[in-house]
Amino acid sequence: MIEDSETYLGRTLSFGDAVRFLETVCQPGVCPICNAKSWQIPMQSAESPVSLVQSGLTFHSVPELELKMFCNKCGFLRSHSLSFIFNWLDQNPADGDGSNE
Ligand SMILES: [Zn+2]
Repeated sequence: MIEDSETYLGRTLSFGDAVRFLETVCQPGVCPICNAKSWQIPMQSAESPVSLVQSGLTFHSVPELELKMFCNKCGFLRSHSLSFIFNWLDQNPADGDGSNE
């Protein structure tokens, strides 16, 4: 079940799209604290959209959500604004194969 608080302008963020954004835009993705390159995105289940949190900020009159993830080694938390992720996804649509491992 998808909570209203986890949609951004009626959209949810799939794990595959989140990974595609991170692997394309955010490489090398090294943790600034411990230099590890292993991040975990909190999810309720493998099929559910990724968990989003309210940032408390408003961007272009829209309450901004954040994608949070933590470093698997030291637990450092990083977050990305959803508006940037969706802007990128809109400009870089998936090419059809949803297999992102
Ligand atoms: Zn770390």
